[in-house]
Amino acid sequence: MYDVNAIRADFPILSREVNGKPLTYLDNGASAQKPKVVIDAVTRAYEHEYSNVHRGLHFLSNLATDNYEAVRGKIARFLNVADEDEIVLNSGTTEGINMVAYSWAMPQLQAGDEIVLSVMEHHANIVPWHFLRERQGVVLKWVDVAADGSLDPQAVIDAMSDKTKLVAITQCSNVLGTVVDVKTICHAARERGIATLVDGSQGSVHMPVDVTDMGCDFYAITGHKLYGPSGSGAIYCRKERMAQMRPFLGGGDMIREVHKDSVIYNDPPMKFEAGTPGIVQTIGFGVALDYLMDLGMENVAAHEASLRDYAMTKFAGLNWLQVQGNAPGKAAIFSFTLDGAAHAHDISTILDKRGVAVRAGHHCAGPLMDFLGLTATCRASFGLYNTTDEIDTLVDALELAHELFA
Ligand code: PLP
Repeated sequence: MYDVNAIRADFPILSREVNGKPLTYLDNGASAQKPKVVIDAVTRAYEHEYSNVHRGLHFLSNLATDNYEAVRGKIARFLNVADEDEIVLNSGTTEGINMVAYSWAMPQLQAGDEIVLSVMEHHANIVPWHFLRERQGVVLKWVDVAADGSLDPQAVIDAMSDKTKLVAITQCSNVLGTVVDVKTICHAARERGIATLVDGSQGSVHMPVDVTDMGCDFYAITGHKLYGPSGSGAIYCRKERMAQMRPFLGGGDMIREVHKDSVIYNDPPMKFEAGTPGIVQTIGFGVALDYLMDLGMENVAAHEASLRDYAMTKFAGLNWLQVQGNAPGKAAIFSFTLDGAAHAHDISTILDKRGVAVRAGHHCAGPLMDFLGLTATCRASFGLYNTTDEIDTLVDALELAHELFA
C-alpha cells in the first residue's frame, strides 16, 4: 500500500516550517526534495568512501569506482535499457541534450536539414538546436499544441519531411503537465530513418519509463528532479547513434592514448565522459533510483494521478483561476494565472507567506509562453510525497491572494 505519511517521514525537509507555517512544497517540477537515504549516502560517500574514480589502484579509488559505476546499471534498469553501455552519465538533462547537439547533430546535419520540435519544449531542448540554426543553417520546425495543451502525435509526424533529421520532443511538459505519446512519434520517425531525442526530465519523474518500448534514440534524465542530488543525470544513447557521435568534451577518462600527434579515444560510453565526474552526486542519484524502484513508479504515478484529480476538482470551483492545459492524462503540474492581473511573482510571494512553495515566471519555455500569450504563470508541481491536505492549503492561500488582488 502507498503510505504517503510514511513516505513523507523519509524526507527530513518536509517537517520544517517556512514563514511560521508548515512547508507545503509544490515546486517539484523545478527540483525535488531528497529522502534521508540519499542524504545519508552522500554523507557516507564523503566521510568513508571518497576518492577519484577510474584512476587509482588503491582501495578507496576502487570502492568509489565500483559505487559510481553501479549507478549506470541502475539507470539502465530504471529506463528498461538492456545494455548499460548505452547510458552516458552526466550532470543532467541540459548537458545531455547539448552533448547530442555537439556530438551527433553538428556533424550529421547540413544547411536546410530540419529539426522538429514542439512549441512546449523547455529551453534546454530548444537553445542547443538554435546553435545549429545559427551556425549551420539548420531549420527548426515547430509543432503547436491544441487548445487543451495536448500534442497530437500525428501533427508531429506530419511535420516530418525528407529533410527532417531529428525530432526532439518532451515526454511531459514542465508547464502544462501534458504527457506526449512519444512512442507513436518515435516509431514513426524510426520508420523514416529520422533520429529522436526525448526529453525525459519531467516524464521520468511521473511515470514508469520503458525506453526500449518507446523506441527513441536519445532519452535524457536529470537526477535532481528524480529525488537525487543536483549535478547528476544521464542520457540513453542507442548504440547505432552512439557509433555516429564524435566526442563532446575532451580531457581525462575519455581517452585511451594521447600523443603529440594523435589521440585514441576510449570506448563508449566513457568516450563521452571527460574529466572528473560528479562522483558523489551520481552515487546519491543511484540511491534515489533504488528508492523510486522500491516504491514502484506505477504506484507513484497512481498517487500523483489522484492528486491531479483532486486538484482539478478543487480548481474547477475557483472561477477566477485560469489553469493552463487540461490534456487527458496530464501529470500533476498546474500552471495558472489569477483574474485581476496580479503578477505571478506577487501571487507566489503571497503563497510563500503561507509556507507554500510554487514557481513563478516563464518556466524556461519562451515559445510556449508566446503561444499562450502570457509572460508568466505560477506553477504548482506535485511529487510523490504531496497530499490532498496540501492542495487544500494551496487553495486557501490562493483564495487569500484573490481577495487581496480582487
Ligand atoms: N527539460 C525539462 C522539461 C525541464 O523541466 C527541465 C528543468 O526544469 C530541463 C529540461 C532541464 O533540466 P536541468 O536543469 O536539470 O538540466
